[in-house]
Amino acid sequence: MHLRPRIMRAMPVAPRIPKVGFVSLGCPKALVDSERILTHLRAEGYVVAPAYDDADLVVVNTCGFIDAAIDESLDAIGEALEQNGRVIVTGCLGARPEKILARHPRVLKVTGAQAYEDVIGAVHEHLPPQHDPFLDLVPPQGVKLTPRHYAYLKISEGCNHKCSFCIIPSMRGRLASRPIDEVLREGEKLVRAGVKELLVISQDTSAYGSDLKYMKRPWRDQERETRFLDLARGLGELGAWVRLHYVYPYPHVDDVIPLMAEGKVLPYLDVPFQHGSPAVLKRMKRPAHAENTLARIRAWRSVCPELVIRSTFIVGFPGETEAEFEELLEWLDEAQLDRVGCFAYSPVEGATANALPGAVPEEVKAERQARFMERAQAISTARLAKRVGTRMRVLIDRIDGDIAVARGPGDAPEIDGVVRVRSGGRLRVGDFADVGITASDAYDLDACVAT
Ligand code: SF4
Repeated sequence: MHLRPRIMRAMPVAPRIPKVGFVSLGCPKALVDSERILTHLRAEGYVVAPAYDDADLVVVNTCGFIDAAIDESLDAIGEALEQNGRVIVTGCLGARPEKILARHPRVLKVTGAQAYEDVIGAVHEHLPPQHDPFLDLVPPQGVKLTPRHYAYLKISEGCNHKCSFCIIPSMRGRLASRPIDEVLREGEKLVRAGVKELLVISQDTSAYGSDLKYMKRPWRDQERETRFLDLARGLGELGAWVRLHYVYPYPHVDDVIPLMAEGKVLPYLDVPFQHGSPAVLKRMKRPAHAENTLARIRAWRSVCPELVIRSTFIVGFPGETEAEFEELLEWLDEAQLDRVGCFAYSPVEGATANALPGAVPEEVKAERQARFMERAQAISTARLAKRVGTRMRVLIDRIDGDIAVARGPGDAPEIDGVVRVRSGGRLRVGDFADVGITASDAYDLDACVAT
């Protein structure tokens, strides 16, 4: 038998695609950081692995805002180490590496918030990129962790305030705004990629641009100033819903309200008031604590009656007396806020408020929190009831059988209520729809498609 010699050809070896797992914890701002890191890694040819055992290493983006968030972050790092073994830590808690390393000495690297280059550098070090021009493409809108139809747009980093309960400035540094053309360009790209709603986030949206001395930049044949009003106006021209978060009640915010009345940006303001007693606000060292917030809210509503105001509050702050708490309840009755969250004060390691006298007992905090939420719920119920019988434009977030779960102009994703639309299967995720409101409860609305 004559065997033909077998010829072994040198086959081109496909480069092994490096896979990175990603765990993102914390607030929308951290989510934006995660998106940026992922965008960068994708651009370099990395693939995002959906499961721990699929990944060559795992990046955990942590939160370090309050003790509960720190514990959650440490647990997530532990889980990633157990399931994968190769872990890089970044995010707010990364500003305190000693805390992480004390519990998890096996992590490969710890980098701090905003330290994109450091995270990317750590990934390169432990999992070098494989260059492949066909894989190194990145969708122009970046890699999104939110649903396709809405996106967070981070306009600045850091904060110049010194609220006594907060350690974010020491973790994230002083205010650093992105120039207006850069933000508008990112917004434009997102809208082109199908995003229907832009959620503007930062630590202090109303301070936007003050660090850049309101620098002018060219945008669409015009000079625009890097400032809150120009930003709201510019984003409002992109053709998507624009929702403003983390706005403080400074006088210049008044200028944005007419844009809401004209339908350029959503009639929605997320203003973290935190308390209604001037004395408590002063102890908290809150921005704009000397402003007459009730007068400001009245003025906003006189210009834009549709305005929905969301806010968060802290009860049981050190030294809060029963009279100060009652003052807060009265303030809330006057303010008639639409959407409200309330936290019982909990000390954060490193915050100056920890040194204040008059710690409020836990049971008093819990009782005040319950009383506050009861009052807030009654207001929300009454305000939503007034919507019954009106028409509303909504954006569909998901389909649940026969119900399209949507949000109206007054509902931010994840934190506010929803509009449940009986759709008969006619609506799709990411669609806008005009609906008629048929019923309401404490936080949500029911509707049917308007004819
Ligand atoms: S405004 Fe106050 S609470 Fe908000 S990030 Fe700055 S210091 Fe912290």
